[in-house]
Amino acid sequence: MTPYEFVHDTQTPRVVFGAGARAHLAGEAERLGIQRLLVVCTPGRTALAEELSATSGGRIAGVFNRARQHVPSEDLETARAAAITAGADAYVSIGGGSAIGFAKALALHSGHPIIALPTTYSGSEVTPVWGVTDGGKKTTGRDARVLPRSVIYDAELTLSFPPELAGPSGMNAVAHCAEALYAPDASPLTSLYAEEGIRVMAAALPAIVKSPRDIAARSEALYAAWLGGLALGAVRMGLHHRLAHLLGGNFGLPHAETHAVLLPYTMQEKLSEAPDALRRMAHVLGAEDAPTGLYGLGRQVGVPESLRAIGMRDNQVAQAAALAVAAERDAGEPRPEAALRALLQAACSGQPPGPGAGG
Ligand code: NAD
Repeated sequence: MTPYEFVHDTQTPRVVFGAGARAHLAGEAERLGIQRLLVVCTPGRTALAEELSATSGGRIAGVFNRARQHVPSEDLETARAAAITAGADAYVSIGGGSAIGFAKALALHSGHPIIALPTTYSGSEVTPVWGVTDGGKKTTGRDARVLPRSVIYDAELTLSFPPELAGPSGMNAVAHCAEALYAPDASPLTSLYAEEGIRVMAAALPAIVKSPRDIAARSEALYAAWLGGLALGAVRMGLHHRLAHLLGGNFGLPHAETHAVLLPYTMQEKLSEAPDALRRMAHVLGAEDAPTGLYGLGRQVGVPESLRAIGMRDNQVAQAAALAVAAERDAGEPRPEAALRALLQAACSGQPPGPGAGG
C-alpha cells in the first residue's frame, strides 16, 4: 500500500481547550440541552467536583466519586444508583481514564451524553472504547454512545497531577502515538497526530518534572494527550497495547506505568518489522533509535525502572509469555514464544533495551 491509499473515518468530540476552560462547563451543558449532570470522579477529585457544582449554574445534580481503574461491575451498580437518585440526563467525568471509564459504562447503558474534563493523559476522552471488569475479566468494545460529546481540556486541573504519575501517564499517550505510526489502518492524518504527539509530549514531560506548576508545559502535555487519544481512537493498536492489556488484566499491574515501562521493549521488538515508523519516532524524539530514546525519556521523567518495580514477579514471566503467544496468534500476528519471553524478561528486570533485550 502506498502512503496515499487509505480510509480515514473517525468521529471526534468537540474540544474546548485552555487554562481555566472549566468555566465553560455550564455553557457546554447548555449547548447539549443538559439539565442534570452526574459528576463521575475518583475520590481525589471530590473537591474539584464541589468547586464545579458551585460554579455550574445548578446543573450538577449529584456526584459519584468512587471511580477506580478498569470499571469493576460491582462499583458500576453503585454509580447507576447514584445516577438514578440524581435524575441525571448526562455525565461529567472529572479525572483520568478511570473516571471517564465509569462515565462511558453508564452512557453505554443509558445513552446519555458525556462531557469530559480530563486530568491525566490517557486519551480515553476522545475514543469510543469502553471497558467493564466482571469477575476479574475485562470486556471491552467500541460504541459511538460512549464517545464524549464535549471535552474540556483545562491545564489548571492538571497542576496537582504529581510528576511521578504524570511521567508514566504521558508515556501512555506516547504509546498510543507510537503504535499508530505502524498501524495497518493508519492514514497520513493519524501519522501526523502521532508524530506531533510524541514530539510535544517528549518535550513537555521533562519540563513538568522540573517545574510541576509550569502551565505552558502542562498545556502542551494535554495537547499531546489529545493527539494520542485521537490516534488511539482512529486506528488499530498492536503488540504493545495487547501486552500492556494482558499484564494489567492478569497480574493487576497499574495501567499507565505498565505502558510506560514496556514501551522501549515493544519498540525494540518492532524495530526490524516497522523500520520506517521507528525511524520517524526516533526523529521526533531526537534520538539515535526509538527504543533507546524512549528508555532515556522514561528515566528522565520518573517512569518506574522495571515491571518488577510495579509488582510483577520474575516467576510470572513464563505464564505471561504463554498468554502473549495466544493473544498475538488471535490477533493474527503470531510471534515466537522465545521472543515474547525475552521481551517480557527484559522489561521485568529493567535492563536497557537492545538486541537480545526484547528484540
Ligand atoms: P486514573 O484515571 O486511574 O488516574 C491515576 C491516578 O491519578 C488516580 O489515583 C487519580 O485519582 C489520580 N489523578 C488523576 N488526575 C489527577 C490530578 N489532576 N491530580 C492528582 N491526582 C490525579 O489513570 P489513567 O491512566 O488516566 O486511566 C487508567 C484507566 O483508563 C484504565 O482503566 C484504562 O484501562 C483506562 N483507559 C481507557 C482508554 C480508552 O480509550 N477506553 C484509554 C486509556 C486508558
